[in-house]
Amino acid sequence: MRCPFCSTEETKVIDSRLVSDGFQVRRRRECGQCHERFTTFETAELIVPKVIKNNGNREPFNEDKLRRGIQHALEKRPVSADDVEKAISRIIHKLRATGEREVPSKLVGTLVMEELKNLDKVAYIRFASVYLSFDNINEFSQEIENLKDH
Ligand SMILES: [Zn+2]
Repeated sequence: MRCPFCSTEETKVIDSRLVSDGFQVRRRRECGQCHERFTTFETAELIVPKVIKNNGNREPFNEDKLRRGIQHALEKRPVSADDVEKAISRIIHKLRATGEREVPSKLVGTLVMEELKNLDKVAYIRFASVYLSFDNINEFSQEIENLKDH
């Protein structure tokens, strides 16, 4: 990385150790140009990426909104609250694992559909019919046909 003093790219790590009970790496670096020393800390970035909406607006990921959408699709279906929470955790985990700061809302929708497909086929179709906004009955029946193969 660049030296914060003289901006040269020629810096090297002279010491590296785990801190914060092993959740952080502290590195001492030295600039090869101006010989100043500085410290960097490395931690896992566990933020959930922001969501890029279809109109280009960015909004913070909203777990409650995700939960409401899933619960709405699952209304009166035989799926336990525990299974819903596990599905939500998996979705959030996958979003974090992208390592991106922003992801298209389409990706969130796709992840929700994957989970619903496993949880409950009826809920999946409910969600997909709204989310994919089927233009005609053929697309709708096609999606149902696809489900039968699984
Ligand atoms: Zn320097």
